[in-house]
Amino acid sequence: MSQSLSTDVLIVGGGIAGLWLNARLRQQGFSTVLVERGSLGGGQSLKSQGIIHGGAKYALHGALTGASEAIADMPRRWREALAGNGELDLSGVRILSDAHYLWSPGTLAGNLTSFFASKAVRGRVDQVKGEQLPPALQHPKFKGKVYRLAELVLDVPSLIARLAELAGDSLLAAERIEPLQENAELCGLIIDGREIRAQRVVLSAGAGNAELLAALGVEQPAQQLRPLHMVLAKGPALKPLYAHCLGGGPKPRVTVTTHPAADGQWVWYLGGDLAEADGVARDEAAQIQAAQKEMAALLPWVDQSQTRWATLRVDRAEPAQSGLVRPDNAFLAEQQRLLVGWPTKLALAPDFADRVLATLLREHVQPASHAPLPELPRPALGQPVWEALLP
Ligand code: FAD
Repeated sequence: MSQSLSTDVLIVGGGIAGLWLNARLRQQGFSTVLVERGSLGGGQSLKSQGIIHGGAKYALHGALTGASEAIADMPRRWREALAGNGELDLSGVRILSDAHYLWSPGTLAGNLTSFFASKAVRGRVDQVKGEQLPPALQHPKFKGKVYRLAELVLDVPSLIARLAELAGDSLLAAERIEPLQENAELCGLIIDGREIRAQRVVLSAGAGNAELLAALGVEQPAQQLRPLHMVLAKGPALKPLYAHCLGGGPKPRVTVTTHPAADGQWVWYLGGDLAEADGVARDEAAQIQAAQKEMAALLPWVDQSQTRWATLRVDRAEPAQSGLVRPDNAFLAEQQRLLVGWPTKLALAPDFADRVLATLLREHVQPASHAPLPELPRPALGQPVWEALLP
C-alpha cells in the first residue's frame, strides 16, 4: 500500500465549492488535499451559466424571500475577488458581462410592478435603452423593456483554471474512496488504497455526495436532484446577450448567457423555464425545436440559418427539500469530523466556504504541522461543454 499522509482538511470534489474552499483554507494556513475523480469543474460548475446572482430574480413575485436576503452580498464579494482585493485573488478571471439584464418582451408585465416595489431590488435596477442595450437587442425592431441588474456573468472555465492554480500541490486525482476509522470514528479516508488522515473531511462532491455518504454509512443529509434540459446554439449571427427574459410566471421564460467558443464564435446557452419541467420531458429534437421557436419569436431579426443547435441534460444537486423548493443558501451539515454540503449555486461558493470556516473556528481546529505532500497525480481541468457539443 502507498505511503499514508496527513492533512488538516481533506476535501472530496473539485467543483466550485471544493476549489473555492480549498483556496480559502490554504490562504489561512491550513494544509489541504482535494480529491477529484473526474475533471476539475466537470460536474455542474462548468455547465452553469456563470451568473453571479444577487437575488433580484427571486423577488419577481414581489415577496422578499430568504434567497433575496442571503445572496444579496455575493456580487460585491465576487467583484472584490475579481479585482484582486477580495478574499481570494481572482484577478485574471474573465468577466463575460458586467451586468445581467431583465428583459420584458412586451409591455411591463403585471408581476414587474411589485418586483420594482420590493426592497430586494430597490436602487439596484436601472432601465437601459438604445446603445446601452445588450448587443443582441440593439435592433430597430426591438420592442420591450430592459433593466440592468448589478449581477456579473463569469467565464467559468477561466475561474476553475484560476482556482486550480491557487490549489498549488493539494490536488489529487483518485477514484476509490473508503472510510478510515479509529475507535469507530472517522479519522480520514482511504483513497485509492492510500490512507489520508485529516482533522476534518469535507464532502463537496455535488451529485456525488449521496454515493459518498452511502459509502461512509451515513444517511443524512439526503440529496435531491433537479433535472434540466439546457439548449446551446452556435452561429456567426449570434451576438452577446445576458438576460432573463420574462414571461407571465414567476420564473424567467428563458435565461440566456453567451460564451466565447475557441473558434471565435459566440454560443448562446439557454436555460430558465425552457430547460425545466416541460423541457425535461421533451426529447432532444423537440427541445431544440422549442428553443428555435422561442428565440425566433423573441429575436426575429437574428438570421439563424447557419446556427447549429445541441442540448445538454444535467442535474442540479442540492440538499433534499420538501416539494423540490429551491434552497436559499449554501448548505452544510456536520457529523463529528465529517462535513458535507452543497453550495446550491455557483454564486454561493463564498457562503459555503464561510460555513466550513465557521465550523473550524467553533471547533478550535487549527493548522497543524504535517509532512510535505509527495507529488500527487493531478486531475485535469474540465472542458467547456460547448466545445464538446458544438465543436
Ligand atoms: P460540482 O460542480 O458538480 O462539483 C462536484 C465535483 O465532485 C465534480 O467535479 C465531481 O467529478 C466530483 N466528484 C463527485 N463524486 C466524487 C467522488 N466520489 N470522488 C471524487 N470526486 C467526486 N449557479 C449560479 O450561481 N449561477 C448560474 O448561472 C448557474 N447556472 C447553472 C446552470 C445549470 C445548467 C446548472 C446545472 C447549474 C447552475 N448553477 C448556477 C448551479 C451551480 O452550477 C452549482 O450549484 C455549483 O456548480 C455546484 O458546485 P459543486 O462544487 O457543489 O458541484
